[in-house]
Parts: sequence; C-alpha cells; structure tokens
Amino acid sequence: MSRETPGLLPGALHGLMMDRPLLVVPLLQYAAQFHSDTEVVTRSVEGPIHRTTYAELYRRTQRLANALIALGIKPGDRVATLAWNTWRHMELYFAVAGIGAICHTINPRLSGEQMRYIIDHAEDRLLFFDLTFADAVAENCKGSPSLLHRIALTDNAHRPNHPGLSDVVTYEELIGQHSDTFDWPEFDENTAASLCYTSGTTGNPKGVLYSHRALVLHSFACCLTSTMGLSTDDRVLPVVPMFHVNAWGVPYAGPMSGAALVMPGRDLDGPNLFRLMDDEAVTCSQGVPTVWMGLLTTMREKGRKPKSLQRVLVGGAAASEMLIDAYELEFGIQVNHAWGMTEMSPLGVVNTLKPKFQKKPRAEQMRQKLKQGRVVYGVEMRIVDEAGTPLARDGQTPGNLQVRGPWIAKSYFKAGTSALTPDGWFDTGDIATLDADGYMHITDRAKDVIKSGGEWISSVDLENAALGHPQIAHAAVIGIPHPKWQERPLLICVARGTAKPSLEEVNAFLATKVPKWWLPEAIAFVDAIPLGATGKIQKSKLRTQFKDFKAG
Ligand code: AMP
Repeated sequence: MSRETPGLLPGALHGLMMDRPLLVVPLLQYAAQFHSDTEVVTRSVEGPIHRTTYAELYRRTQRLANALIALGIKPGDRVATLAWNTWRHMELYFAVAGIGAICHTINPRLSGEQMRYIIDHAEDRLLFFDLTFADAVAENCKGSPSLLHRIALTDNAHRPNHPGLSDVVTYEELIGQHSDTFDWPEFDENTAASLCYTSGTTGNPKGVLYSHRALVLHSFACCLTSTMGLSTDDRVLPVVPMFHVNAWGVPYAGPMSGAALVMPGRDLDGPNLFRLMDDEAVTCSQGVPTVWMGLLTTMREKGRKPKSLQRVLVGGAAASEMLIDAYELEFGIQVNHAWGMTEMSPLGVVNTLKPKFQKKPRAEQMRQKLKQGRVVYGVEMRIVDEAGTPLARDGQTPGNLQVRGPWIAKSYFKAGTSALTPDGWFDTGDIATLDADGYMHITDRAKDVIKSGGEWISSVDLENAALGHPQIAHAAVIGIPHPKWQERPLLICVARGTAKPSLEEVNAFLATKVPKWWLPEAIAFVDAIPLGATGKIQKSKLRTQFKDFKAG
C-alpha cells in the first residue's frame, strides 16, 4: 500500500461530510462549555492545593494566548516548558498550540548538556519553568541565541530571587495583563502542536513533532473502554509527567471525556500520591512501575488503598507479576499493562482481558496480563524477521516490532529523512511476540536481547521473574560473553535488605518461572541500578561497568 494519502478511486464519489479540522483547542472549549464546573485540582509547586474548573482554565488559556501574541510568538515558533503536571502547564499546552505555535516539553531529568542541546536544536523562543527548576534554568538555559524570555510559572509573591534569573517575569503577572477572550484561528489539522524529544539512550535526543490531528485521534483512543476508559465518572491522576509524551494523552483526553483531573505537581512518592488520591477521590491513574512500587509500600503500611482508586495503567517499562498480584489481590485495584513510545503519542497497546481469558484460572490469566496488551484500534502492528518478512501471530515467535498509524511519527524534527522502513513502517526497536487475539508481548529491546547458543533469552522476563524474589529490590539483566554459548545472562541486583542471596538460591527460585537454559550464569550486587531520564534502566552503562566481568 502507498505511503502517501491516497486519492479517489476512478469513479468513486467524495463523501458529503463537513471537513472540520481536528484541532486541540476545541477539546478544551468543549469541556469549558459542557463540563464547565468539572474540577482540575493541582498540588501546586508552591505547596497548597489549587482548585479550578475547565471553564476557568479555558478563560486563563485565552489570557495566555493573548500574552503569547503580545510577546511576538508566531505560528511555527517553539515555546518550551520545564514543568510538572499542573493547571498552568495545561494552559500552556492549549494556548501555545491554539495559536499555531508548538509546545516543546523538556524533560527536567535530562543532563544540562542535553537540555542545552535540545533548546538550541528546537530554537525555543520562550521558556516557561516551574520554581523547582530555577537552578537548572539559571545554569543551562541562558545564552541560547533563540531564547527571548524566561517565565517563572508562579505569581509575584513567589518570584525566584536567584541572581541568574533577574530578568524573569512571572506567569501570573504576564497573563494578568491580558483579556480572557481570544479569537482562535482555524488552520490545517496537520499543523504541529507539540514537540517532545526521545530520552536519548543512544546518541542525541530526537524530536518527535505531534500534529493536532494525531493528538485528537489519539485522545479518542484514550477514551475507549478497552484502553483508559476515561469518562465523566472519573477523577484522573496522571502521574506520568506532562514533559514525557504528553502525559500519555491525559491532558487532552480528560477534557474530551469530561473527567476531572488531579495534577500531582512535583511530589510523586508513595505517601504524597496516597494522600492526594485519598483526599481528591481519584478513580484512576497512569504511571511507570517504579511509581506503583512506591504507592504499594504506602498502601501496605496503611493497610488500605486510597479510598476511590479503582484502576491503574502501568507502562513505560514492564509490569511484574508481583506488582499486578499485589494491586489486584491485596487491594482490589485493577492493573492494566500498557506499552507505547514517544514516537507513538504514545498509546500502542493496552491490556484488558477478553471474556475468554476472564473465565480462566488466575495463573493462566496472569500469563495474558503480563503481556503488554492488546493492539489499540488505529495502530497497525506486525513482527518481522531480520529480512523484514512478517512472522506468525502465534504468541511464540519473537521478531522486530513494527507499527504504523495516524499518531505515529514518520520522521524526526529537522532530520530531513524518513524514519520508516522502505515499505512505510516504524521499527520500534523492541522485540516482541504477537498472538492471534492481538496481545503483544515485549521480550526485549533489540539491542538488549541475549543471544545464547543461537536462541534468544528475554532480559525483561528474567528481570521480572527476579523481582518476585523476596530479597531482590531491583534487577537488571545483561548479556556477558561466553566461550560456548556466545552470551549468557548476568543478573545485576539491588538487595532488599542486608542479606544477599546466592546465585544458587536465586536460580532455584527462578527455575520455577523461566526455562532452565535462561537461568543467570552469574549474579552481581550493586547499590543502585542506573536509570535514564524517563526511568528506564540504562543497560549501556551496566554493559560498560561490567565489561570485564568474569562469571564464577
Ligand atoms: P519512550 O519513548 O521513552 O516512552 O520509551 C519507549 C520504550 O519503552 C518502548 O519502545 C519499550 O522499549 C519501553 N516500554 C514502554 N512500555 C513498556 C512496557 N509496558 N513493557 C516493556 N517495555 C516498555
């Protein structure tokens, strides 16, 4: 099939439907009109709980749009944010995109060098930052030739008094001077709305440029019952940050569905999340496994769950059996595993059990639940071998996972070349199996897979199995050279207490969970597993650290 938008078939008729563009501002307009009193609650970076409604948030978004125009921001300009999940960050999402400019969300966990690189690469004109990042801004975000102004996301009472920030204005001062009505332009739905750089585990970060059309279509997908199932019944707390792939689409899907939003600000540890969820009657939440491990510790300490919490979405890294069991069996919170990528806006698959699995015994259900999930409509998915030939959807054969669809990137910002295979698919860099029911299971990143005697060992599955051991708090598996098998797995762990289990003890435990020939060749203990800016294990660092490691 051609990669370009196809024309009409000879003799076919155009449908007679209106050609209204899919733009993001109407999502918020809809919420402001029909869910005007629905709340957006934030634990503010300044400290207190801040409460607003979609109607008020929309009025302030119009003030901001007027302010951006007054600052000289033009369509196509990039406006950067270095900010947590807050109502002000929501206003930026909509106002910047609404005037045809591009909201560039910067990950504050990037190194200073990477931050400077992406600000210069994106040629950001403005930078809006939360107080938490004042030092980073003073240090890394100065002297960029494109940057006109730096704006602190706060009011005048909290103006940062950092010597390197004497020129900053505050957000409230800025928008307070402007009218709360704005005449939004209408434009092509393929216009860029936001920009997010990949976490850059290899080389420099690459910019993914989302279009209005992609974000709106992706929001519909987020609201499906078989994905996040957002609705007016929900009070949603996105733990996943707005600086990482649009907080998995929640800031757009929330207004679309009329769900209330509870924004956690900067404190994402178990006790703070528990309190906010409890106080604000949060029904569902989205985050990476580390976040859910933190909340689990707090729930166990308190002996209960946050009172209204019904379901959590786990993605960004694999969810372990231990985590799923603890949430579902100990606390009655439904866990939905999910997978996606920065390049995919990010939703690709979400795990909900089809009825035929719901009737199965728990162990069989768990096999299905540990898969990353079922393909979401709108994403086409295939696995291929090294030559690009599609492989069987049998749930057994691993291959390179490739995707295509209207919310998937076709090239990177300013790259000038296609990011796709010659036949128009995006290669995710993940190795996975796909079954006939559409469930996809990641077995590895292509570069992390361990090739032992010509067969593949899944480092992800081994890590998850190891996490079930009571004395192991964190685990990472990498391949080490082996004279006979080419590569064998090395299990690198952080111990849960002072006692460190032996290789024999751990392997006896793992033997009940994974094939015998997968069992680690060796075990090593470290104080901490290195994590990248988006919380993923940095295996490249571990490979360097253990490059001279000898088993036995
Ligand atoms: P990012 O673009 O930073 O969101 O990273 C995307 C990558 O994270 C994917 O290509 C996967 O390698 C990994 N990933 C995301 N979700 C999962 C998951 N549920 N299980 C395993 N790996 C995941």
